Amino acid sequence: MVQYDYLVVGAGLFGATFAYETAKRGKRVKVVEKRSHIAGNIYTKKVDGIQVHEYGAHIFHTSDKAIWEYVNQFAEFNRYTNSPVANYKGEMYNLPFNMNTFNKMWGVRTPKEAMAKINEQRAEMDGKEPQNLEEQAISLIGRDIYEKLIKGYTEKQWGQKATELPAFIIRRLPVRLTYDNNYFNDLYQGIPMGGYTQIVEKMLASDLIDVELGVDFFDQQDEYLANFPKIVFTGMIDQFFNYELGELEYRSLHFETEELDEDNYQGNAVVNYTDAETPYTRIIEHKHFEFGKGDEGKTIITREYPADWKRGDEPYYPVNNQRNNALYQQYTELAGQKAPNVIFGGRLGQYKYYNMDQVIKAALTTVAEEFDK
Ligand code: FAD
Ligand code: UDP
Repeated sequence: MVQYDYLVVGAGLFGATFAYETAKRGKRVKVVEKRSHIAGNIYTKKVDGIQVHEYGAHIFHTSDKAIWEYVNQFAEFNRYTNSPVANYKGEMYNLPFNMNTFNKMWGVRTPKEAMAKINEQRAEMDGKEPQNLEEQAISLIGRDIYEKLIKGYTEKQWGQKATELPAFIIRRLPVRLTYDNNYFNDLYQGIPMGGYTQIVEKMLASDLIDVELGVDFFDQQDEYLANFPKIVFTGMIDQFFNYELGELEYRSLHFETEELDEDNYQGNAVVNYTDAETPYTRIIEHKHFEFGKGDEGKTIITREYPADWKRGDEPYYPVNNQRNNALYQQYTELAGQKAPNVIFGGRLGQYKYYNMDQVIKAALTTVAEEFDK
């Protein structure tokens, strides 16, 4: 019997980063993963010569130079810049909200004209402090853009009225008075050439790491807890405690992927459908993440449908409102009392809407706490 120092539950980016750093320090690690593949939600797979993002569009972006250099050890990144386009009932608008969007919406040509238009529209808020997402959006950008590009998309995405959603969700979208369609403000951005899976593969390649796929931690929980001195758990923290303090809320998604016999379906990697009637939020065309790389005459598209979450569904997004954050806090206190040898990590273990760079950073922080104390 091999003696392991750690059990890592989940072969996603958090678990893999932790395992990699731990093996580098000479420790033995076992990784168990309930899916049939590694890499969690960043998993990509080659079909028709195209890297398919199986769990939705993933664009790496960060302003943290150390994290950018860290991830570049495992793959070479291309110069992909995310510039999604919004389709509102057939009208096409550039995102994020910038001079191209304002020109199309109102015919304005200069930043001064755009500001005048935005200010005219904001006036309906009358200087009032925004109390919800709708009010926040109108005070940021005005009613025209809110109605065409925000309301429908947001209500589909979150399954709630914009008047019932917290204002902060929309604050992270940039508003620019330049003709710049780059969605992110970060210094570094790109897609790993050849896909994301190679990153996790390299992280887990050490002889000191054993990976078992298709294994659910909860099927052998007691045995794992008894036999491993330390466990890193990247699944749902409320499930770990059998929901004893109540359920945290999640949003789920379902993906519908189609292989088409044509070269170029929509001319862009990401097209958002911002009306209320179209049931999906976006269509991604995978080959455009690598500038059209793929077999001739083939393309692959994925429609993304938001969905309510119930037990047994994939929990893609934590819903970080006040109620859930407070409940998560109670779970961390429970963890301190009942599971002192378990570290909870990642999007589900830490119940945070983390991007990939933040997940790597969080895993490196956990490693530092574990080994450098
Ligand atoms: P996960 O990738 O979810 O890994 C957790 C793993 O644990 C999973 O493989 C799961 O199967 C496994 N697991 C769970 N429970 C058990 C169990 N009981 N037993 C065994 N295994 C278990 N980030 C960006 O930076 N840029 C983007 O553009 C971006 N786009 C995104 C788009 C979508 C649709 C989604 C959902 C996320 C996006 N993200 C993006 C976020 C990114 O996916 C996450 O930050 C990252 O994948 C989280 O890694 P993780 O290891 O915490 O979680
Ligand atoms: N959003 C929108 N219209 C769009 C794109 C985004 O209203 O075309 C809003 C929506 O409320 C969404 C939020 O902006 O939840 C954040 O968008 P982002 O693209 O950052 O979300 P993610 O890619 O993480 O789902």
